[in-house]
Amino acid sequence: MYKRKRLERRLIKQAIAIVSLALFLLILSLLKRSLSVSEWISTHISRAYIAVFGRIIGILPFSLYELTIIALIIFAVFFIIRLVKCFARGFWRSALSAILSLVIVGVSFGCLYITTASFSYNRSEVDIPMTSAVGDAVSEEDFKAIALYCAEQLEELSQQVERKNGVVICPYTFNELSELIRHEYERLDSDYFNSYTPKAKRVLFSEIMSQMRITGLFFAPYDEANINTNCFPCELAHTMAHEMAHGKGVMNEDSANLMGYYILLTSDDPFLKYSGYYQCFYKITSRLYLINGGKEVYFNIYDEIIGENYNNDIAADMKIWSKYHMLADISEFFNDLYLKINGESDGTQSYYVPPVIVDSGETGDDGEIIYKIQSYNNVQRMVFQLYFDGEL
Ligand SMILES: [Zn+2]
Repeated sequence: MYKRKRLERRLIKQAIAIVSLALFLLILSLLKRSLSVSEWISTHISRAYIAVFGRIIGILPFSLYELTIIALIIFAVFFIIRLVKCFARGFWRSALSAILSLVIVGVSFGCLYITTASFSYNRSEVDIPMTSAVGDAVSEEDFKAIALYCAEQLEELSQQVERKNGVVICPYTFNELSELIRHEYERLDSDYFNSYTPKAKRVLFSEIMSQMRITGLFFAPYDEANINTNCFPCELAHTMAHEMAHGKGVMNEDSANLMGYYILLTSDDPFLKYSGYYQCFYKITSRLYLINGGKEVYFNIYDEIIGENYNNDIAADMKIWSKYHMLADISEFFNDLYLKINGESDGTQSYYVPPVIVDSGETGDDGEIIYKIQSYNNVQRMVFQLYFDGEL
């Protein structure tokens, strides 16, 4: 009887804790809508948390996130067995208490996650050199000239990097590449970014990640950049740079991609620079084909300038991914849901926002509509500015 009363008192305490935590979670979710509050929490609370826990967890030579997932799976099995036993013996109060404990842990984790990660999804534009997005800010002639310049750079670099059987290879070990990219991040001198750059950590179960079509995963509460080791060499470099960007306080996916390209393209290392061009070249030339005189430049780039090295690399990259698709749909569904919960209304479409084009009212010699760029994508804006600054 005494034990039953004690259990009932515990249930009431747990229910109060859940309601309090849920209220806190609700307040955090509402605060997240404000740009200024998000900026302040990201640059003060999240940053302070990462400065401490990122450095401590960074010491571990393995992925704590991966270990946590394994521990959670084992815990889930034991937890279900315990629940079944409780219900079978009629100990429903004990079972309910165990479930409420789990809810408390879950809601507490939600509060921690919003504080360390979610606010950073609603920050101001990432602080790197970029032209205005407006189409008129950069002329079509400049767009064509820069696309040609980048194609020549891509081709030149493709001849400089180490190759095996015609395909690019990474000249560094996993840890060397991680340290090299972390070192590149030290060039950033803006207050926009967190001072600590997380290390890239290899995921032992990379095959499962590949089946889910995930190249990397940043887990904010641990400030860990978890990397799929099956990635194609150039993709490996960009994935590390992308996941590290999240650790620098850039959570938006398009911006983290952009940061990754920026770090790689402005590097003096031929492999890193080639990786940057390799990963974003199609975004630099996006919609080029549709503008006045763009088709000629586009054919010149792909038929004349770019040689077999780049095409070999694309083919090898595609070959790697062609064998993985088993868990792709499930992974896409949950990633989309996760991003939408965190305020990215476009979900997985937020990884890349293409340029916006409008009908110019003119037609080409072949009768095809000629389009005008209304707004450039972020990669084009960054590449244009780097070109004008002589940094490419
Ligand atoms: Zn990401």
